[in-house]
Amino acid sequence: MELTALLQNLQSVLDPKNILTGDDIGADFTHDEYPGESFIPDAVVRAASTETVAAVLKLCGENGVPVTVRGAGTGQMGGSVPVKGGVVLSVKDMNQILALDEEAKTITVQPGVLLQDVKAAADRAGLYYPPDPGEQTATIGGNVSTNAGGPCAVKYGKTKDYVLDAVLVKADGSVCRLSDDEANAAVIGSEGTLGVVTEVTLRLIEKPGADAILLFPFLDFDTARNAAQQILAAEEYSPAVVELLDTDLVEFSGNVTGNPVFPVEMDGERVGATLMVTLEADDDDAVMELMEIIAEGAEDLECLDILVGDSPTMKRDFWAAHTAFHTSMESGAKCACEVNVDLPFEAFAEVIPFAKELGEELGLKVMLNAHVGSGGVHFHAVSDDKDAFPAASKAFLDAMYAKVAEVGGDIVGEYGVGYGKNAYLTDEAKAAFAAVKAAFDPQGILNPGKRV
Ligand SMILES: Cc1cc2nc3c(=O)[nH]c(=O)nc-3n(C[C@H](O)[C@H](O)[C@H](O)COP(=O)(O)OP(=O)(O)OC[C@H]3O[C@@H](n4cnc5c(N)ncnc54)[C@H](O)[C@@H]3O)c2cc1C
Repeated sequence: MELTALLQNLQSVLDPKNILTGDDIGADFTHDEYPGESFIPDAVVRAASTETVAAVLKLCGENGVPVTVRGAGTGQMGGSVPVKGGVVLSVKDMNQILALDEEAKTITVQPGVLLQDVKAAADRAGLYYPPDPGEQTATIGGNVSTNAGGPCAVKYGKTKDYVLDAVLVKADGSVCRLSDDEANAAVIGSEGTLGVVTEVTLRLIEKPGADAILLFPFLDFDTARNAAQQILAAEEYSPAVVELLDTDLVEFSGNVTGNPVFPVEMDGERVGATLMVTLEADDDDAVMELMEIIAEGAEDLECLDILVGDSPTMKRDFWAAHTAFHTSMESGAKCACEVNVDLPFEAFAEVIPFAKELGEELGLKVMLNAHVGSGGVHFHAVSDDKDAFPAASKAFLDAMYAKVAEVGGDIVGEYGVGYGKNAYLTDEAKAAFAAVKAAFDPQGILNPGKRV
């Protein structure tokens, strides 16, 4: 069946205004936040229900038309970009909160509900949804499909740790539940290559009573790493966040925003790195007690000082400055690229200097922040030399992903594979994925060109 005929068939289940072709396809549907090329789909279909998703997949499956699912398009690796054309299936309009059970502490939502709306709904019910992967306007479907993490994964885990149940439409249009079949759990983190998530039930938890953010500046990375290890090993702290901040990054993004917030110099000496630690407890007094215990051990940590953020304004400022690490890259330099990976803690000592030296050799300024404990590291490389950047950034990515594999890290990291990391997947990883793919989507219509 020709695409035009296929789309006409779809009009029996979808309002025609939700089928876009030609110039009606906005540029937004051709890319996400990955700085790669744009790919124009043949059509964009905006789904309104599980039934319409099923009808689209069934028809596309029968006709071998590729389907690339899209949430909010905030992905960093080109996951929702239709590299093989076909249909982009947007689930962003499926944005209803279906139920919130305060007693059972669960929330059931359609996939297009934004992370910020899930958090707000939980908050209104006096509950808490912990995963916090930086971008609040991402959809829950996107979070589930990339198994999004973020700084508090060290204490609370990633999105997969909160998915209790989900409705999944498979490539042939059949509808199943993730909880029906353990193999279906493979769908979490599979970036729209195995099925379309059309409903999710998430676990909520009790809201922490009180919290405070502590900043620990250090002379160098090694001392900061050792201190992070001590803080993580001490059971009484159970920190929600242990972020390792490179002073080069703090300074760079502070210059862009005009508000550095994090320390760059102390007593005339340059800070090498800072730890940003969030402590939580039942109430303010209990948080204060934790801070006192940590302050008593400050000498062992070898920090230059301890700066406390316990007011709502200070905490907001710290997090705004943290978010700016990411957003300041493109405005602060003419060219930028990012390597996001998971590293074993022991490998930090080797990979951080490796990345910095590699950057110097290639004429790139390399800066990083890391979610210590859960292992997620964001390496940013920037340059103002537009001519040299394509070759230099390629050499940087090639060497970094090879190094990460060599030290036993995971290149999938928090951002997933998309098409940006496809070339760096090992043959073993591709073969393992091909076996799962064959079970879910034997024709290969879902998000083709990814993980192959
Ligand atoms: C400033 C910034 C900071 C970020 N920081 C982090 C971070 O710290 N940690 C982190 O993990 N991520 C981070 N991200 C990346 C991004 O926000 C996440 O990947 C997010 O989960 C993507 O959600 P989305 O709705 O935008 O999905 P999209 O980008 O639309 O899609 C992402 C992938 O999921 C698939 N998909 C989307 N919806 C569905 C569905 N319903 N069913 C099946 N597959 C689907 C798509 O096909 C695609 O492969 C950041 C992004 C930005 C812009």
